Amino acid sequence: MLPVVSIVGLLIVRKLRRGHLFITFVVFATIMILLTGINHGFAPKDLSAQLLTSWPVFYFGTIMLTEPMTTPPTKILRLVYGAIVGLFFGASFRVGPIFSSPEFALVVGNLFSFLVGFKRRIVFTLESKVQLSPDTIEFVFIPNKEFSFLPGQYMEWTLQHKRPDSRGNRRYFTIASSPTEELVRICSKFSDKSSSFKKALKVLKVGDGIVGSQLDGEFVLPEDPDVKMVFIAGGVGITPFRSMIRSLLDTGQQRWMILFYVNKLEDDIVYKEVFDEGKAAGLKTVYTLTDIVKVSEKWRGKVGYIDENMIKEEVPDYEDRVYYLSGPNMMVDLYKKLLMDMGIKQSEIKTDYFPGY
Ligand SMILES: Cc1cc2nc3c(=O)[nH]c(=O)nc-3n(C[C@H](O)[C@H](O)[C@H](O)COP(=O)(O)OP(=O)(O)OC[C@H]3O[C@@H](n4cnc5c(N)ncnc54)[C@H](O)[C@@H]3O)c2cc1C
Repeated sequence: MLPVVSIVGLLIVRKLRRGHLFITFVVFATIMILLTGINHGFAPKDLSAQLLTSWPVFYFGTIMLTEPMTTPPTKILRLVYGAIVGLFFGASFRVGPIFSSPEFALVVGNLFSFLVGFKRRIVFTLESKVQLSPDTIEFVFIPNKEFSFLPGQYMEWTLQHKRPDSRGNRRYFTIASSPTEELVRICSKFSDKSSSFKKALKVLKVGDGIVGSQLDGEFVLPEDPDVKMVFIAGGVGITPFRSMIRSLLDTGQQRWMILFYVNKLEDDIVYKEVFDEGKAAGLKTVYTLTDIVKVSEKWRGKVGYIDENMIKEEVPDYEDRVYYLSGPNMMVDLYKKLLMDMGIKQSEIKTDYFPGY
């Protein structure tokens, strides 16, 4: 059973990008199990073998611990969460009716998560829908209560609908509006083979509600206004940058920003007016289209995928910048590799993955 559980579990960890949580849990659980075992007279060698073969570390750490509903919102809090659950998972104690068990460890972890997490549910009522491009729709909502967020953050959105498919009724969407705006915007792409969630979202009517919770995300602007940035967005991955630029414009701030915005076709470009206005906040935008055959003669932007030459041409001081990558998984991974091959340190590259595209 262990090989199957390990493979499935590690795939889940990879998909949810919770490697840091799993490793922290394993490290702390291992330390606790070894200390407890040695205290009871077991040899560390036997304990290690037992740990890898018979303890449900993999099942617990990959499948139960990573449940999105119960993990805290930020990476640092998730590391603490993994450490707490690991410590209680590996401990051996009994206090009256309470005794150590994996379930108890999870209860303690969930309590921590509940205390630090943003669990407030907000009902968003649809105010309008805007067709931004042939397959992209913006949904504009009125929240039922005030809430604060940072430009670039996302929420978990629950849309009750009939007969949800196996992908369920919850999705993450970045808040495309700025905290300075009264109405809240999200935007999404729709394909021919949409999930039941997307089908229900598409036909949402003015006055209908959707629930937002779990505000999350560290893909936000640096506090230091002197940090020079390069944003790279693919398709609907543009949403966090719309929020950031709108917010800087509305608060009269200036930053050093170059945005590369990659799309297949010119018609796919959304929020151009915000990025045009963004010049006033220090933004330079470089548009590039990847469907080379369909590029019109009038197109004045770039053509093709971003490569080393394009970056060096548009960003002469590319070595001194912090990079923000947002879009489909594969795109983000490719550009991260490109940047690292160009000598950019991993710590200077922030990523926001949009799985499912
Ligand atoms: C932090 C974060 C922020 C995000 N922000 C946004 C945002 O602002 N806007 C946005 O549109 N999306 C955003 N996403 C992605 C979003 O949560 C959905 O995953 C995405 O929109 C796909 O939706 P869907 O699963 O309903 O698939 P659909 O969009 O209905 O389907 C798209 C296509 O992909 C296929 N597909 C999708 N998922 C799977 C899967 N798991 N397995 C197999 N095939 C699949 C479908 O069959 C279809 O062909 C974000 C994700 C994260 C993690």
